[in-house]
Order: sequence, then C-alpha cells, then structure tokens
Amino acid sequence: MQLESNLKNKKILVTGGAGFIGSHIVDILMKEECKVIVFDNLSSGYTEFIEHHTGNPNFEFINGNLLTPHEINMACNDIDFVFHVAANPDVKLGAVDTKVHFDQNITATYNLLEAMRKNNVTNIVFTSTSTVYGEAEIIPTPENYGPLIPISLYGASKLACEALITSYSHTFDMKSWIFRFANIIGERSTHGIIVDFIQKLKDNPHELDILGDGRQSKSYLHVSECVKAIMFALNNSNEAVNIFNVGSEDTINATEIGEIVVDEMGLEDVEFTYTGGKRGWKGDVPRMLLGIDKLKDTGWVPEYSSRRSVKETVKSLICR
Ligand code: NAD
Repeated sequence: MQLESNLKNKKILVTGGAGFIGSHIVDILMKEECKVIVFDNLSSGYTEFIEHHTGNPNFEFINGNLLTPHEINMACNDIDFVFHVAANPDVKLGAVDTKVHFDQNITATYNLLEAMRKNNVTNIVFTSTSTVYGEAEIIPTPENYGPLIPISLYGASKLACEALITSYSHTFDMKSWIFRFANIIGERSTHGIIVDFIQKLKDNPHELDILGDGRQSKSYLHVSECVKAIMFALNNSNEAVNIFNVGSEDTINATEIGEIVVDEMGLEDVEFTYTGGKRGWKGDVPRMLLGIDKLKDTGWVPEYSSRRSVKETVKSLICR
C-alpha cells in the first residue's frame, strides 16, 4: 500500500505504540519508511511487540506517561503527525473504578492536545470506539447517528476525547481523523472475549463460563484489516474533522465465539454455562454493528467476516 500526501516522509508520534493495535500501526508506518516515535508507559503494552524495530534509525521508543505533561510536551517537539492510540481500553473496569477512564483517557488526551498546541503539531489520528453510540436504535449504526448516549464510563470518556479533539481542531486549526472501532482482534491481542475464553479453557478444559446469555452479537474485525482501513481513510479524506466507523459487515455472538475457540483448541464435550442477562456486564452493549459505507467509499474493501477474524485470532493466540 502506498502512503500518499498525509503521511509520506512525516515524523510520527504514536502514543500507545507498544500496545496491541498501536504496535500494528507502528509496523505499517515503519514499512512505509516514516520516522516513528513510540510514546508508551508500558502499563498494558509490551516492548516485545515493537522490539523488532530496535536499531532501525527511523524508530525511537520513549517510555513516557501521558499524565506527566512535561514528558509528552518534550515528545511532541518537531512532530508532524500524532496517532493517539494510548488509553485504558477495559470497558468493564468503569463499573468498579470510576476514575481510571477519566484519567487515562480524558486527562491523557487533554495533556496530549495541549502538548500539540504548544509545539504547533496540527494532525491527530484518534482511536475511538463503537461504545460512543451506546445502545443505538439504528443498526448498522452510521457515523452521523445521534444523540450519542454512551452507557459505559469508557464510552463516555472516549466521546469526551472526541469532543476535545474536534474542538481543538476548530479552535487551533488542527486536522483530525477519528476512527470508531468495532471489536478489533488478532495477533498480540491481550484482552477481550477471545483472550478470556482461551484462558478459561486452559484453566478448565471441561467448562466455559460465558458472561450474559451468550447472544450478545457484535462486529469483530481483524487488526490487519483495521490498520489497512485507517491508511485508506487517511489517504482519502482531508476535512478539518474526519470521522469513520471501522468494522466488519456482520456480527457473531458470544456462544459462537466460544464454539470456535473450543474447536480450534481441539477440545470436546465442553459444557457452556452462562451468567445470564442480555449483557455481559454493566455497560455492555448487547448488539453492535457499525455502518461502514463511508469507509468503503475511500476504496477500502473488507476482506474478513467477523467469523474469519475470530478464527484467525484464535489460531494465532493459542500457539503463542
Ligand atoms: P492496549 O491496552 O493494548 O494499548 C494501549 C496502550 O496504551 C498500551 O501500550 C499502554 O501501555 C499505553 N498506555 C496506556 N496509558 C498510557 C499513558 N498514560 N501514557 C502512555 N501510554 C499509555 O489496547 P488496544 O486494544 O490496543 O487499544 C488501543 C486503542 O484502541 C485504545 O485507544 C482503545 O480505546 C481503542 N479501541 C480498542 C478496541 C479493541 O477492540 N481493542 C476497540 C475500540 C477502541
């Protein structure tokens, strides 16, 4: 894939670049010979995910925290483009810790935007989420759906980040690309339903406890598809604020994911038990499918169904 005007030969800061999705973004940017600086505090990221770039003169790693303003201020010096991927992505956590998403998502994003403003950095890509829509009444849900009524503290925090980014874009002549992701899965996944199911079945290969009634049905997209989609959108949109949904065109439910994991692990006679209720946890949205026509208009063609994304992910995770 060719990177065109927006990124070619640019110096790019990737916050959260040592995490699951961030490290795949770093890989594609490095392949295109961008200068990449990863800024990550390794709270849920791993140096192993980026160590293959160590020694490349186009690559630098900064062990820094977005909650420490002078660290991110220094990192933004002489940067052309920021991919803001760092966050606490654990949706469930908001029900037991009400401050974590406020700090790690909203305050962290504010600190970054201030650092960008002070250093005259004018381009930002932000990894947002389907949870900003809450329990949408229109499915597939398009980007212009409203009102946006998140039901998790995580979704609320990411919507607040979006609002900060769009208002900074307007007020300080920045340009922003906001990507609202469905469930992104694949090699290097460290959290989420598949990681959870594999761990549970390793602990007890006879039983799988599924949160909710197992019928929660959502869109899943392989990370390789996700990063391609981002690049297509970046190369083919240039408004002051560009918002894109990123997902597959179908859904798969929790029980079906359980069946794929059992099958790929070669297990038999596994009993599925359910915690009950239509949600896995408080703040869980039972049905999620994003409208991706806007993304497809950029020329991106989704190659993976949710099922294929899940299967490939399970295969790569069980052998690691
Ligand atoms: P991840 O936890 O693997 O990555 C987050 C990275 O951010 C980690 O490397 C972590 O160490 C770093 N980080 C966290 N707080 C930091 C701080 N204060 N300072 C510096 N670095 C910090 O998560 P992921 O699944 O790769 O998610 C990446 C982004 O995509 C997040 O913004 C998340 O909200 C968003 N997202 C993910 C999904 C998904 O399905 N994985 C879906 C929707 C949106």
